Amino acid sequence: MRKLAAGNWKMNGTSAALAEVKALIGAHPAPPCEMLLCPPATLIAQMARTAKGSALMVGGQDCHPKTSGAHTGDLSAAMLADAGATHVILGHSERRTDHGETDALVKSKAEAALAANLIAIVCIGETEGQRDAGQTLAVIGRQLDGSIPAGATAANLVIAYEPVWAIGTGRTPTLAEIGEVHAFLRARLHALIGAEADGVRILYGGSVKPTNAVEIFAVPHVDGALVGGASLKAADFGAIVAALSV
Ligand code: PEP
Repeated sequence: MRKLAAGNWKMNGTSAALAEVKALIGAHPAPPCEMLLCPPATLIAQMARTAKGSALMVGGQDCHPKTSGAHTGDLSAAMLADAGATHVILGHSERRTDHGETDALVKSKAEAALAANLIAIVCIGETEGQRDAGQTLAVIGRQLDGSIPAGATAANLVIAYEPVWAIGTGRTPTLAEIGEVHAFLRARLHALIGAEADGVRILYGGSVKPTNAVEIFAVPHVDGALVGGASLKAADFGAIVAALSV
């Protein structure tokens, strides 16, 4: 399977930041993996225009479960697709925390994404307290079961394992801990969707940097990365993209 380097810009970036996108595209005309950036919604259309004809794909960071209607401030999956998005991140821990998103809501958003022909990147991960209490596999198993959409296939679903305590902290699990979770997720996906599970990309996310990318990508069942802070700079994200060739 082709691995995926996905960047999550979160609430960062105005049109001036498109200079970084031009630099990234220029430096990686034929990347060794799939390359995706998910900017704030205000930049999706501009970034998609900038990326046209290049290997860079553009995604959203959230969508509403409904197709249209009285939902002030929200965006439908079809609107993201219309703006040029091919993917959408769903159930990021910041949305689960800041907006109280439940597994059921994430699942309904993922189903809306699939209906709009977007690839859903469904995020799951344990808190530090849950890891310390030995609940990691129980928590992420429950999140996976509850969040993945009906009709999920290798082509339309990506899973991102993001320990909440590793996001933006500079801390990461050990390689053995990452390997344990990714193998668990592959097996659980098999139980849920059968043979399609073999082709579903399972990304690791949480303080991935150019300095740790090579060793993390060598862990079995790590099929790429979801990158926050280090995706904002073309040089850093480009180094992570290059690390995915190993
Ligand atoms: C993220 O928020 O998805 C993330 C992984 O952030 P960071 O790389 O900054 O830890």
